Amino acid sequence: AIDAAALDRWVRAFAAAVAEHEEELTRLDSAIGDADHGANMARGMKAVVAKLDDAAPAGPAALLKQAGMTLVSTVGGASGPLYGTFFLRMAAAAGDVDALDQAGFAEALRAGVEGVVARGKAEAGDKTMYDALAPALDALDAALGGEDTSGALHAAADAAAQGRDATTPMQARKGRASYLGERSVGHQDPGATSAALLLQAAADTLG
Ligand code: ADP
Ligand code: MG
Ligand code: MG
Repeated sequence: AIDAAALDRWVRAFAAAVAEHEEELTRLDSAIGDADHGANMARGMKAVVAKLDDAAPAGPAALLKQAGMTLVSTVGGASGPLYGTFFLRMAAAAGDVDALDQAGFAEALRAGVEGVVARGKAEAGDKTMYDALAPALDALDAALGGEDTSGALHAAADAAAQGRDATTPMQARKGRASYLGERSVGHQDPGATSAALLLQAAADTLG
């Protein structure tokens, strides 16, 4: 079961991955954006971890909500509100339970991604974080519908990584990268890259 302690491990693993990949995220954003995605995500996730160290929330919803609120308030730019909304919508979908099962976690994840879409209006192929998140949701649902669900989150993480890689030939239609038009082609999207780290952290800590 995925309780607050498990989600705490997920969020901390994501923060560690973001810190480890901060330079890479910055390099990717310097090619098609304003070179701050690494710093934005590192600052935001550091604040999320500091809040967890301060006071560990009691249940899944409280933990996810705290993470979302912290990201919204500490990260400017596109990614703060988008990742913030993701965690806030996950919190709302988790509801007042002590733990989520795999299906409940998958549902909450889908609600989070729907929040990203509601906020940013991204569609598949726009070269955003959504291009890593959407295939992960589909892979997760497919795996949870099968007989052996033990590798479901790993399948989701693999799909997110493939979705991330698939952003390279895309032309950006949302966010700063869209200002570049055809010149955005040939570069991996920074937000899709951090989103793949989020799913890999889930597979590592919750799978
Ligand atoms: P900013 O572009 O404001 O500097 P970041 O560099 O932190 O913010 O984040 C950029 C990332 O945000 C992009 O790589 C993309 O994945 C994501 N992004 C931007 N706009 C949108 C949107 N409308 N919907 C979904 N994701 C978006
Ligand atoms: Mg940027
Ligand atoms: Mg910026």
